[in-house]
Amino acid sequence: MSQHEDANSPKTSEDSLKTATDFIRSKVKEDLGSGRFTTIKTRFPPEPNGYLHIGHAKAICTDFGVARDFDGLCNLRFDDTNPSKEEQEYVDNIMFDVRWLGFDWQDRLYYASDYFAQLYEWAVLIIKKGLAYVEDLSSDEISKGRGTPTEAGIESACRWRSIEENLSLFEGMKNGEFGEGKHVLRAKIDMGHSNLTMRDPVMYRIKFDEHHRTGKTWCIYPMYDWAHGQSDAIEGVSHSLCTLEFENHRPLYEWYLEAIGLEHRPRQIEFSRLNLSYTMMSKRKLLELVELGLVAGWDDPRMPTLSGLRRRGYSPEAIREFVTAAGLSRSEGMIELAMLEYFVRQDLNKRAMRVMVVSDPIKLIITNYPADQSEWMQTENLPEDKNAGTRPVRFSRELWIEREDFKEVAEKKWFRLAPGAVVRLKSAYYVTCTNFKKDAGGAVVEVHASYEPESLGGGTGDGRKVKGTIHWVSCASALDVELRQYTTLFTLEDLNQIPEGKDYKDFINTESLSVLHGKAELWLGQARVGDYYQFMRQGYYVPDSKDYVSYTEAGLGLAEAQGKKNQAALVFNRTVSLKDTWSKLAAK
Ligand code: ATP
Ligand code: MG
Repeated sequence: MSQHEDANSPKTSEDSLKTATDFIRSKVKEDLGSGRFTTIKTRFPPEPNGYLHIGHAKAICTDFGVARDFDGLCNLRFDDTNPSKEEQEYVDNIMFDVRWLGFDWQDRLYYASDYFAQLYEWAVLIIKKGLAYVEDLSSDEISKGRGTPTEAGIESACRWRSIEENLSLFEGMKNGEFGEGKHVLRAKIDMGHSNLTMRDPVMYRIKFDEHHRTGKTWCIYPMYDWAHGQSDAIEGVSHSLCTLEFENHRPLYEWYLEAIGLEHRPRQIEFSRLNLSYTMMSKRKLLELVELGLVAGWDDPRMPTLSGLRRRGYSPEAIREFVTAAGLSRSEGMIELAMLEYFVRQDLNKRAMRVMVVSDPIKLIITNYPADQSEWMQTENLPEDKNAGTRPVRFSRELWIEREDFKEVAEKKWFRLAPGAVVRLKSAYYVTCTNFKKDAGGAVVEVHASYEPESLGGGTGDGRKVKGTIHWVSCASALDVELRQYTTLFTLEDLNQIPEGKDYKDFINTESLSVLHGKAELWLGQARVGDYYQFMRQGYYVPDSKDYVSYTEAGLGLAEAQGKKNQAALVFNRTVSLKDTWSKLAAK
């Protein structure tokens, strides 16, 4: 098996295209050509302080994808340097999500915390070189003393501490002799540096929280910058790919490697973050939504987390194709949510089984069809795929149809039901609307029609063109289903631009979830979590991974199913409607 297959990183047509074109792959190619690196190694470095979101999918596809395209390897490394925010639950879910997306780090699972001892030794080493010192100032005083882009920072008096004193204080910090905030270790670089990141950055701070892996072993924790490049070097990473906010940190990344005197020098390359319209992508704020109960959890189907998207019915294939199509660049931009939806439709159209579900039912009574009769009609499971077969759907005198498929008065170009109009019932007969009934409030409750027995399975041979085909469900065997439909969690398009005086929570869409009670064909009682469905003419749906209980799971045969609906719970999430708004937008 080649490393390719080994790495279990799916390749798509679009991926291959990108191999030649994006700027990161060009740089990697350059580095292989020049001999700067002979093998390619990348890493995906999440901080386990929340669940992964769709933005992380871009980083994952980039890190694993670049490694795969150059026959290299990609590590999974948890950047677990902050004990107060990190938890095992997050570690477990991140691993699940990366695998679900289709990527595999094999035996290369690492933690920055694995390197705490080595990082400590290196800190001692650079103190000995006179390149780091123990600071007494508080974090507020440090920020104040850092200066501004136009004004140099102030050198702290601690800068001139002797190496011996620094070594002894740093050891004291490690041994728990000082309270939190009492001291930090700082690199001694240049308080007048034009890049503020280089003005004596903090390397270590004191924290007495318990770490999810190292427990109470340490009470000093390395800052991101001190941990990241060294972890990359230890693992032999060639290209450390990250988002643009780390661009200013690159000189520091390189300074630390130089200060220690490490031979292996990974190359950091930055790319722009994925921003999606109407979508919040900050773990901190997503955590807040969860903690305040504004959503039903990290996997609420409205959340942009991978677990939310999965529960909503997004496939990993669709997410990968989307990320690839969105591309890699260094310019910040906003991607339309409609584009993500376009890619999930593209994927599901090929494989989501078609079923008939009526989401807002009214009755259609076929007055010339005998009440004691019923038939099993054959209908295709997947019109795109002839091998997907057919299944029987029950037809009878009383059917459920969509309220919106009937109009009291037909207007021009109305090809559905209206008095006198003819439609085809999917996989069954032509029917002509003869009458309708309203309730006291004026709402239509029943539509009457007559059917043409000879029209089964096609036309009537008289050359008539019946333009409309509508879906239906037999009342005699309909299952009650709960349909959860979602719109965006926020009403604001660009969540990076919160207006003055407002909070992102002011833009929560209170109508982002609506629940409908529909009627489904009998077959759907055995749908399985993880399978994708298209409810014909309605949208793509999946059984909800938490609340759905099939009739099979509820221990009932389908024949027994009717009338015992309280035991099963047919709860479906709408992934996306059928209406594409993006390809039209993109074609403009
Ligand atoms: P958040 O701000 O959501 O907490 P983060 O950058 O702090 O995100 P990390 O766990 O540190 O989250 O991120 C792991 C990797 O994912 C990093 O390399 C980071 O650059 C990348 N990443 C995070 N958000 C995005 C995004 N929106 N688009 C692309 N990459 C991202
Ligand atoms: Mg982070």
